[in-house]
Amino acid sequence: MPIATTTLPSGELVPVLGQGTWMMGEDRRRAADEVAALKLGIDLGMTLIDTAEMYGDGGSEEIVAEAIAGRREKLFLVGKVLPSNASRSGVLRACEASLKRLRTDRIDLYLLHWRGGVPLAETVAAFEELRRAGKIRHWGVSNFDTEDMKELERLQGGRNAQANQVLYNLTRRGIEFDLLPWCRGRGMPVMAYSPVEQGELASDRGLRGIAARHGVTPAQVALAWVLAQDGVIAIPKASRLEHVRQNAAARDIQLLPEDFAELDGLFAPPVRKRPLEMI
Ligand code: NAP
Repeated sequence: MPIATTTLPSGELVPVLGQGTWMMGEDRRRAADEVAALKLGIDLGMTLIDTAEMYGDGGSEEIVAEAIAGRREKLFLVGKVLPSNASRSGVLRACEASLKRLRTDRIDLYLLHWRGGVPLAETVAAFEELRRAGKIRHWGVSNFDTEDMKELERLQGGRNAQANQVLYNLTRRGIEFDLLPWCRGRGMPVMAYSPVEQGELASDRGLRGIAARHGVTPAQVALAWVLAQDGVIAIPKASRLEHVRQNAAARDIQLLPEDFAELDGLFAPPVRKRPLEMI
C-alpha cells in the first residue's frame, strides 16, 4: 500500500510517514549503516526525510546527502535552522551551509528548530526571502505551543507557515487538548517527532496485547496509533534495517475501535491544557 498523504496549507500533498535522522552522522563508523537504512526506507516509500543543521553538527545532513544521491526528485526534505542562527543574515547563511552539506539546491520544508531570542518577525522575513529565492519551497516551525502559533499567525507572512513539528506519541498526548485542534483548524499538519518515544515504546508492556492480536511489535502499534491521527505526519528514526522495515509496514496496521479504547485506558488523553513538552 502506498503511504497516505496529508495536505499542506499550500495545497501540496506530503506523505504521513517519513524518516528521522537525529543521532545520525555522529560517528563515521556507523555512517554506512545509517545511509543503508535511509536508502531502504526510501525504497519502502518513506520519501520524507527530516534532518537539521544541529544533528551531528551537520553530519546528519551529510548522511542524508549520501542516501539521496541520484534520487532527489522524488524526495521531500525537511531541514531546521537553530534559534542561534535565526537572525536574517544567520538564516540565509545557515540555509546555504545546509544546502551544501545536503548537496541539493533546495530544501522542501525549512523549520525554525525552536524559539530563541531573535524576534520571530525577523526569522519569518528571512524564510520568506529564501522562499522567493527558491532555496526553500516551504517553511514552518518546531516546538511551538498554541500561543506561539497565534503570535506567528499575526506576523506579516506568518500565515505562510506550513507545519509545526512537535513531540507527539502515546505517552505525550498533551497537544490533543489545544495545539492539535488549532493546527487542524488551519489545515496545517503537525509533524510528530519521537513517535516511538525514542525507542521506549518498543518495550512497553501495555502494548504487547494489542501487538500480539495484530501480529506486530509494540513499536509498530505506537507508530500505527500516531498514523491514525488526522493531519499528523510521523518521522520515526531507525538505523537498523529491521526497524526500518517494521516502521514502513506500520502503515498497513488497521487499529480497531477496541484497540483505541484500550490505548486510551493505558495512555490517557489530556483533560486540561498541558504546556508543550520538548525533547
Ligand atoms: P524515535 O523515532 O521515537 O525513536 C528512535 C529510536 O527508536 C532509535 O533508537 C531506534 O533504533 C528505535 N526504533 C525505531 N524504530 C523502531 C522499531 N520499529 N522497533 C524498535 N525500536 C525502534 O525518536 P527520535 O529520533 O527522537 O525522533 C524521530 C525524529 O524526529 C528524529 O530523528 C528527528 O529527525 C526528529 N526530532 C525532532 C525534534 C525537534 O525538536 N524538532 C526533536 C526530536 C526528534 P535504531 O536507530 O537502532 O534503529
